[in-house]
Amino acid sequence: AIRTFSTSIRYLQPVSPVNSLNIKRTTPLFINGEFVESKTDKWIPLYNPATNDLTWRKSSILSRQRILLDLQLLIREHTDKIAKAITEEQGKTFADAKGDVLRGRQVVETACGITNLLMGEKLTVATDMDTYTIREPLGVTAGICPFNFPAMIPLWMFPLSIAAGNTMILKPSERDPGAALILAQLAKEAGVPNGVLNIVHGSIDTVSFLCDNEHIKAISFVGSDRAGKYIYKRGTANGKRVQANLGAKNHGVVMPDANKNYTLNQLAGSAFGAAGQRCMALSTVVFVGEAKEWIPELVDRARKLKISGGMEPDADLGPLITRQAKERVENLIQSGVDQGAKLILDGRNPTVSEKYKGGNFVGPTILADVKPHMECYKEEIFGPVLVILNVDTLDDAVELINNNPYGNGTAIFTSNGSNARYFTTSIEVGQIGVNVPIPVPLPMFSFTGNKASIQGDISICKLDGKSGLQFYTQTKTVTALWRHEDVDHTKSAVTMPT
Ligand code: NAD
Repeated sequence: AIRTFSTSIRYLQPVSPVNSLNIKRTTPLFINGEFVESKTDKWIPLYNPATNDLTWRKSSILSRQRILLDLQLLIREHTDKIAKAITEEQGKTFADAKGDVLRGRQVVETACGITNLLMGEKLTVATDMDTYTIREPLGVTAGICPFNFPAMIPLWMFPLSIAAGNTMILKPSERDPGAALILAQLAKEAGVPNGVLNIVHGSIDTVSFLCDNEHIKAISFVGSDRAGKYIYKRGTANGKRVQANLGAKNHGVVMPDANKNYTLNQLAGSAFGAAGQRCMALSTVVFVGEAKEWIPELVDRARKLKISGGMEPDADLGPLITRQAKERVENLIQSGVDQGAKLILDGRNPTVSEKYKGGNFVGPTILADVKPHMECYKEEIFGPVLVILNVDTLDDAVELINNNPYGNGTAIFTSNGSNARYFTTSIEVGQIGVNVPIPVPLPMFSFTGNKASIQGDISICKLDGKSGLQFYTQTKTVTALWRHEDVDHTKSAVTMPT
């Protein structure tokens, strides 16, 4: 079938080697009532002569909106292909990978509202005098991504940036760049002109280049503390706007009045789903008082989870990203044991089918009686390992969490509104779930990490959503007086205008 797009540039091109979608923007022959693909090996690039010279920032906001509308449709149509690339390169289950794509697509859908999101403000401040704001693009922006959400995190970055009229250079994780390449292909297909979205690969050298390049005005980073601190320091030293969203240690507080089955199901899912490789994984549970009696039932649930390759339909969790990641997680489990924690479920060397014998698997692991000084509590483990601490009161739980340097996400499980209200107002964490295990807010809000989980000017550092646009735009404020009295004197107006 032939699709029509509201593109500004149309292409006749051979299928690129990186195109795992087999999208052919070619013009077929029409023979005997059928569209037939040409067998030629010679292709002619075709441009719309009316728009060749249009720069992206001067394109109309409606034309950019149109392209985003097509992009969200293409992402929806190709969800399975993007998800398959994620499962093959990142390891998470296919169902989880589809969630990765969906949560990213929601940002594109939000960016489709760019016409409203970019509206400025206007006020008549005195007779005949108006003040209004204009939100302008910054120019060239960069996005540097981690491995754990190969579709969602690139989609946190480039749709809003380009919707605002910027161009973006995106560096996906070198461990799983496939999804970003498919997204770039789809962006092109939707009509994003050449040069507006660019993908570069590599590791520290590429990152350093992006931090130093004089044309780049702003960098969005999501990833580990080490890389983020480096990028923040180097990027800001070069005068760039930088937001660095870093590591996490997310606590879930369980009150004895919580609904037991619901809570335990949620805890096991959010601790071990995606093999714990989520910045919003619930990796630490704090049982308050009698709630600790439920620990054996939590272990039962964790033990039943199926460890397998991500494309297997019954897989609950897949492998870790690399052998080094597996070794690091195993070492942190051992450090917990060595420092006096109780290993009540050991997922090291799990049983997997023959086909996956060579994979980087660690099964669900639970360390109980953990204390705040232990390495397994202080480090972000980023694997399927849940550490358990016990406290006597909700106040103790709040104090424990507030003493932790990270502030990405937290959750409370309770049926008591007063407890929930107290928790949400006293906790120093950016994203809070009440009976929801560590929610990533939908993009009409934004991602709002706190404390050591973020570096950058907090007033503009927002990844997605309406406030995300603050990061990718510069506000101008215009005060205009079009009607004023004719004056016949020549005295300078030196006093402060009031
Ligand atoms: P990572 O920091 O190793 O890699 C992220 C990016 O930085 C990659 O593109 C990589 O090429 C680059 N990089 C790696 N090491 C670097 C260095 N020393 N100097 C400069 N650049 C470097 O992170 P990862 O392992 O891919 O991702 C996992 C981490 O990301 C976890 O800590 C997780 O909590 C964090 N994360 C945070 C959020 C959030 O919103 N706060 C979301 C997702 C993941």
